[in-house]
Amino acid sequence: MAEVLVYVDHVDGAVRKPTLELLTLARRLGEPVAVALGAGAESTAAVLGEHGAVRVLTADAPEFADYLVVPKVDALQAAYDAVSPAAVLVPSSAEGKEIAARLAVRIGSGIITDAVDLEAGDEGPVATQSAFAASFTTKSRVSKGTPVITVKPNSAAVEPAQAAGTVEALSVSFGEKSTGTKVVSRTPRQSTGRPDLTEAAIVVSGGRGVNGAENFPVIEALADSLGAAVGASRAAVDAGWYPHTNQVGQTGKSVSPQLYIANGISGAIQHRAGMQTSKTIVAVNKDEEAPIFDLVDFGVVGDLFNVVPQLTEEIKTRKG
Ligand SMILES: Cc1cc2nc3c(=O)[nH]c(=O)nc-3n(C[C@H](O)[C@H](O)[C@H](O)COP(=O)(O)OP(=O)(O)OC[C@H]3O[C@@H](n4cnc5c(N)ncnc54)[C@H](O)[C@@H]3O)c2cc1C
Repeated sequence: MAEVLVYVDHVDGAVRKPTLELLTLARRLGEPVAVALGAGAESTAAVLGEHGAVRVLTADAPEFADYLVVPKVDALQAAYDAVSPAAVLVPSSAEGKEIAARLAVRIGSGIITDAVDLEAGDEGPVATQSAFAASFTTKSRVSKGTPVITVKPNSAAVEPAQAAGTVEALSVSFGEKSTGTKVVSRTPRQSTGRPDLTEAAIVVSGGRGVNGAENFPVIEALADSLGAAVGASRAAVDAGWYPHTNQVGQTGKSVSPQLYIANGISGAIQHRAGMQTSKTIVAVNKDEEAPIFDLVDFGVVGDLFNVVPQLTEEIKTRKG
């Protein structure tokens, strides 16, 4: 059976959920071979094996942490040369897309970015993408070289499947240009304790209807009752009510959670572009004509300051 390379996103050995989703999708195409780099790479093997990785190729070197992405591209290319895979799958983060694009150029392959689904096809993997502000769904396949495909978080439900997960050391030599951009300092972002916006299974967002930074705790309380991330429309962000890092939309982050709850957001096309592929969409808006109601699965016409606290209390009660 053909092997499929899966690039592993992990933090000191803790594998992030989008990688487990990739392993689930990779099994549709062949046998997953994971590539884990940097500190803690070897300790990813157990969880990767539990999710279908037959082999885990690992490498650690100071270059992975001290420089930007090129050393990781060198390593992924070394894995590609060693395995000759049927496809290379990479999580669709900003870093993942840069690594994938650089690899595709080096190996002379076509690339598909931001896939939301993958299936096996007679002539190679077929990727589903959501295009033009999510108003079209396209299916495409790479017609040149080995397909390199980046897949958005939350594109598949994680399905465990036990495999060997055999650790093998990957030999990597770094090119002259690999150390061109050195990381000179790192400042960790202050943790909110909430999940990462782009990876969260549930996102609760607030817009201009929240009417002030002082009211955002209403949105945060609902998010916390659900273990969700908090998003915001550009109107709310531009007004200084919530950080830019939380903006959802065309010029913000693209999210595709299982559940998206929009509060006091009208549903402008630029906002929809960042959340329309969410599996279930709920909106609370006091204007029954608001365009957001055109795309919701459940809509509540009402004042968010009345509806959202009640919803939060009800969720807390049901959770016990
Ligand atoms: C190039 C470009 C890029 C853009 N990129 C983005 C982007 O990435 N993300 C983004 O979000 N926007 C983006 N925008 C802006 C976008 O066009 C809209 O202006 C913005 O999304 C509106 O935000 P909003 O829905 O919060 O505000 P509004 O459109 O003002 O809507 C507020 C809504 O809240 C409702 N409301 C008010 N009070 C309450 C209440 N008490 N209870 C319930 N409902 C209430 C109102 O009925 C209304 O529907 C972009 C625009 C441009 C031109």
